[in-house]
Amino acid sequence: HQNEMSIMIEAHDLLKKFYHHLLVNTKEGQEALDYLLNRGFTKEIIEQFEIGYSLDSWDYISKFLHKRGYSLELMEKAGLLVKKEDTGSFLDRFRNRIMFPIWDYQGKTIAFSGRILTSNQEPKYLNSPETPIFNKSKTLYNFHQARMHIRKKEQVILFEGFADVISATKAGFPYSIASMGTSLTEEQAKLIRRNVESVILCYDSDQAGIDAALRASKILSDVGCYVRISLMPEGLDPDDYIKKYGSEKFKNDVIGASITQMAFKMQYLRRGKNLQDEGERMRYIEEVLKEIGALDKAVEREHYLQQISSEFSVSLEALKEQQAQFNKSEFK
Ligand code: ATP
Ligand code: MN
Ligand code: MN
Ligand code: MN
Repeated sequence: HQNEMSIMIEAHDLLKKFYHHLLVNTKEGQEALDYLLNRGFTKEIIEQFEIGYSLDSWDYISKFLHKRGYSLELMEKAGLLVKKEDTGSFLDRFRNRIMFPIWDYQGKTIAFSGRILTSNQEPKYLNSPETPIFNKSKTLYNFHQARMHIRKKEQVILFEGFADVISATKAGFPYSIASMGTSLTEEQAKLIRRNVESVILCYDSDQAGIDAALRASKILSDVGCYVRISLMPEGLDPDDYIKKYGSEKFKNDVIGASITQMAFKMQYLRRGKNLQDEGERMRYIEEVLKEIGALDKAVEREHYLQQISSEFSVSLEALKEQQAQFNKSEFK
């Protein structure tokens, strides 16, 4: 069905241009444009990321596509329309939303993500479903634009959200990408690894973001990436941070202050523990020892054991002995 797929891509390309036109040139798009400008998106960024707006209508796009000779059945398969079960008629999937085109690695438009304008609607981001041209688990947002920069810089920054990627690009980090609102998949990790080894994870600082960063760092290391993690202060995501503190501070205090996976894990294990308390301190040391024991490289294990040893004034021998005991009980 090569032909059907190329028609689907053609329709996406056409709609991307139409949505963009609605956003930048029409009075229907004014509110959406104001929203974006208020958020700090510039005209140039809106052009570069081909951002658009879908009208507050149930059938404008379905009529638009029909008039141009597209089969509505096919457009439903492409995820652009939704079929109404009772009447069999077709409705627009995206209505009254800011439209972010999703490109494949060659820059072909294969899907959309539509963001609400006001906070009283659900869901916040509506994505195209899986279709013959859109496989979420293999797609990385902005990969086609970032790729050249990733290779040149020999580094990539992986974010959670589209807005983070866009803000970071504007702030001078064009080697920025995001997964598709789901946790990073092994396929995405392999795609990254084929282009670069060094990955900086820059996720939201809420619990969901911390958990996602831990999962992603494991998946990325497993395919051979060298991962570092950048942390934001509680309550801010990278886009918020850049807006609040500016590009320079983002560069120095976030990206430039990235930490290793183990340092991140240690910080994570510390959370909510009172290390002045002997029992909690012992529990922390045990948990960290298990993590250190799981490291592949002997040099790294030694490094972190030294660190724990000097921080808590415990001899290296005692730490190693304790670790050996864990290993025994695990392999029994
Ligand atoms: P914004 O700054 O516009 O509010 P965000 O990127 O900060 O967006 P988050 O809530 O942090 O949004 O979510 C991160 C990413 O997860 C989004 O960019 C989007 O890809 C995805 N996402 C968020 N909410 C949904 C949803 N309801 N359905 C599908 N994907 C979502
Ligand atoms: Mn989040
Ligand atoms: Mn966010
Ligand atoms: Mn955000």
